[in-house]
Amino acid sequence: MAKYVYSFGKDGTDGDATMKNLLGGKGANLAEMAKIGLPVPSGFTITTDVCTYYYANGRNYPPELQGQVEEAMKKIEATMGKKFGDTNALPLLVSCRSGARESMPGMMDTVLNIGLNDKTVEVLAQKSGDERFAWDCYRRFVQMYGDVVLDMKPKDKTDIDPFEEILEAKKKKAGVKLDSELKPEHLKELVTEFKAAVKKQTGHDFPEDPMEQVWGGIGAVFGSWMNDRAIVYRRTYGIPHEWGTAVNVQAMVFGNMGEACATGVALTRNGATGEKGITGDYLINAQGEDVVAGIRMPKKIEDSLGKDMPKSWEEFQKVAMILENHYKDIQDIEFTIENQKLWMLQTRNAKRTGFAAVRAAVDMVNEGLITPEMAISRIPANDVTQLLQPIFGGAGLKGKTPLTKGINAGPGAATGQICFQPEDAEAIWQKDNSAKLILVRASTTPEDLRGMKVAQGILTSSGGAASHAALVSRQMGKACVCGCDAIEINYKAETMSVGGKTFKKGDWISVDGFTGNVYEGQVPTSPSEVLQVLFTKELKPKDAPLYQCFQQLMSWSDRFRKLGVRTNADNPQEAGRAIALGAEGIGLTRTEHMFFDRIDDFRAMILSENVAEREKALEPLLKYQQADFEGIFREMKGRPVTIRLLDPPLHEFVPHTDHEQEELSQKLSIPKGKIAQRVNELHEENPMLGHRGCRLGIVYPEITRMQATAIFQAAVDVMKDGIDCHPEIMIPLVGNITEFRNQEAIIRAAAAEVFKKAGVTVDYLIGTMIELPRACVTADRVAEGAEFFSFGTNDLTQTGLGISRDDYGSFINDYQEKDIFPADPFQTLDQEGVGGLMKIGVKKGRSTRPDIKLGICGEHGGDPASVKFCHGLGLNYVSCSPLRLPVARLAAAQAAIAEKKEKAEKCCKESCGCDCCQGGCSCCSCCPCGCQSGKSCCCK
Ligand code: ADP
Ligand code: MG
Ligand code: MG
Repeated sequence: MAKYVYSFGKDGTDGDATMKNLLGGKGANLAEMAKIGLPVPSGFTITTDVCTYYYANGRNYPPELQGQVEEAMKKIEATMGKKFGDTNALPLLVSCRSGARESMPGMMDTVLNIGLNDKTVEVLAQKSGDERFAWDCYRRFVQMYGDVVLDMKPKDKTDIDPFEEILEAKKKKAGVKLDSELKPEHLKELVTEFKAAVKKQTGHDFPEDPMEQVWGGIGAVFGSWMNDRAIVYRRTYGIPHEWGTAVNVQAMVFGNMGEACATGVALTRNGATGEKGITGDYLINAQGEDVVAGIRMPKKIEDSLGKDMPKSWEEFQKVAMILENHYKDIQDIEFTIENQKLWMLQTRNAKRTGFAAVRAAVDMVNEGLITPEMAISRIPANDVTQLLQPIFGGAGLKGKTPLTKGINAGPGAATGQICFQPEDAEAIWQKDNSAKLILVRASTTPEDLRGMKVAQGILTSSGGAASHAALVSRQMGKACVCGCDAIEINYKAETMSVGGKTFKKGDWISVDGFTGNVYEGQVPTSPSEVLQVLFTKELKPKDAPLYQCFQQLMSWSDRFRKLGVRTNADNPQEAGRAIALGAEGIGLTRTEHMFFDRIDDFRAMILSENVAEREKALEPLLKYQQADFEGIFREMKGRPVTIRLLDPPLHEFVPHTDHEQEELSQKLSIPKGKIAQRVNELHEENPMLGHRGCRLGIVYPEITRMQATAIFQAAVDVMKDGIDCHPEIMIPLVGNITEFRNQEAIIRAAAAEVFKKAGVTVDYLIGTMIELPRACVTADRVAEGAEFFSFGTNDLTQTGLGISRDDYGSFINDYQEKDIFPADPFQTLDQEGVGGLMKIGVKKGRSTRPDIKLGICGEHGGDPASVKFCHGLGLNYVSCSPLRLPVARLAAAQAAIAEKKEKAEKCCKESCGCDCCQGGCSCCSCCPCGCQSGKSCCCK
């Protein structure tokens, strides 16, 4: 019989942490905690398979489920020594909690205090000796159950939550401000009124039968997997809809049973900065979601839990250490203290910023907790770009005093216009993608996600380092300051006041997520700490701890990666910066960028009427280009430099408006009519597929000759100064070997001439950019001539998918929302299609030139998934823009480590029988003899 239910608790646990796919993250970790002897209220997990079954079968359960759930409930009863629905003794209550493979904060539903009804509440009151507590649980339960299971939650901002309305009225009538000040008789009245609201809205009585309540909870959790916000969240974070959620049913423990009780959330290291030490929030005499919901201002664990509850604090610190050492990662923990006794309710690897990810991983290696490989593998490669983002500091802060200070929950510097409503933020951003906004809220909920996504920064007036706002902004990598209780927000008037000043919607403010400071107006930024060391040299490495972590991580990455990393750079300054960020060469110099600075000379060349005129017009250009190349070669000091010949269609350079043509006519003393005529001649209906790439040099060989001559003369001059130089000349948009041969002849002739004149020769290569399907399919022919290939995946995506990069904006959103494309193919490589073409190109290219040099220079060269793919293809290098280099280095190391691990696993599974070690293998960690001979080894 299929097993759908896994129990956990002190009397036996079926699952463990490795079973996340089946039990969800929460369930797997509850099982693991129980297994290693930590205090976990017992319970059981219904597997994600049931969720899959549920949706495949018209929202019905497998028939075996009921029996298994009833059995598991009995087990909880036995362990806890209480009976569910007991009307004589203290009754067992349970929670029903969602939990997918990856945590989706606040996206799905949870119901607490299941098992209460008009009878059990009386027993609970009597046996606990605390009437207020019992009725507080009951009123929370009716409210949560109504919202979640009976679907009475408001559907949008204009709807009112019937329960909140009743609660507010009650507090007003009782003359109190906080929920916790309500007396038992108020709570009793509330339950009656809540139930009446249920009856009125649903037409049914509130269910009194505890088992019926459990099944209601289970159904609601499975149902919440397909609610709108969960779907949007999964799309944003690339979580497949098929995974499904698990359901956890667990005995309740109570943090709201008086002053010796508390509930809280904590991190074992700071999720914003990575610093070691427990941080978190707790509330005395409160239940579960109170801490995260931001209703009452929580207290800081690190500040006062030790004073409030010394014994529990000590125990908690121990448990937190056990967990961090066990999982070898920062833990995000939920706990409850019931009459001094600590109970663990959840642990997971904490969400963290790029800063915290790097800092904590490097620290953990230095502490001996993890290996460098583990550190590299666990940091999302894209996150290291956060360490390069501008910050507030230095001159920009002169004369500025902060308006107020909150909790520094998400590092980064953000300046923007105040916006109070997520819908407004989204609307502004849709009109203007460059709008800079700061979303200001009392606290955030999943409904605010849309607004958070488009804002530069997030500012909240309540909630601590573990609030929803903090968690989500860390994950999104946004600057966030939360818990600024000095700020008063008036949503109706759309104003916020602080320190006697009032700010309106649209006013500019700045938030510093490193310090928690909030400033009036726009604060100018300075370069990040890392770039202050590497680029501006304002900081010394020894004074820059973040830089040290970054550099340590990069040097480990360089040790493990097999792919080379190069940069796309068009001038010496960019080249120099790229070297500082680890570039080992230039993978793409776009020569046309050099012309933009001397646009009029270039235009004179385009407007010339015959070859003689054009050759004359090319003369000044040759001088410029030669000087540019010289500068780059000098900066690169012998590292390879790939230079692409002129690529874009000529009409991109000529003036199109009447006014501009008039101006040019005067500058060049050419009649305006003639300019207009030439511009007309150059016009193309479909320029992407028009007269561009090598087609230019074929029609105008003198342009290719000029560029080649400039490259070789520059190289010769640099060599004469004793600086080594390795130009790699790249012919763009080749589809046919005949095109290549045509251009190659011109380049080789120019080289011979320059070398002869100078009496110096330079070691150079001629290759091509592979950006047409035809080039991939005939790569064996092309490689007969080309000494290297560089996959130009921007154009290869355009030509391979038949999608114009300049026009796809109008439909790509629909494509992603309708799950037609999993991602934007111009950002992350379409591995199946474009990658398939690359595979063909690599295989065929190597078939005729086994040692052909292979690289990629499209935007994808800095995208982690694409880098991994390139590693798999066995390319020699990836090339990307300078600031993406750290991402590429880390991603390349991750790919190498993952491959090694896969091979090792394979090796262990299918023992290879190599001569030297009787079934072991000398090339990976499973080798028992370590002889390294590797003879006939399976993983070589
Ligand atoms: P989420 O995934 O939104 O965090 P959870 O299932 O973790 O939802 O539960 C929400 C809150 O309720 C948490 O603070 C959790 O600690 C608390 N909680 C859940 N189950 C129990 C329980 N059995 N006893 C006490 N508190 C619980
Ligand atoms: Mg939780
Ligand atoms: Mg191109």
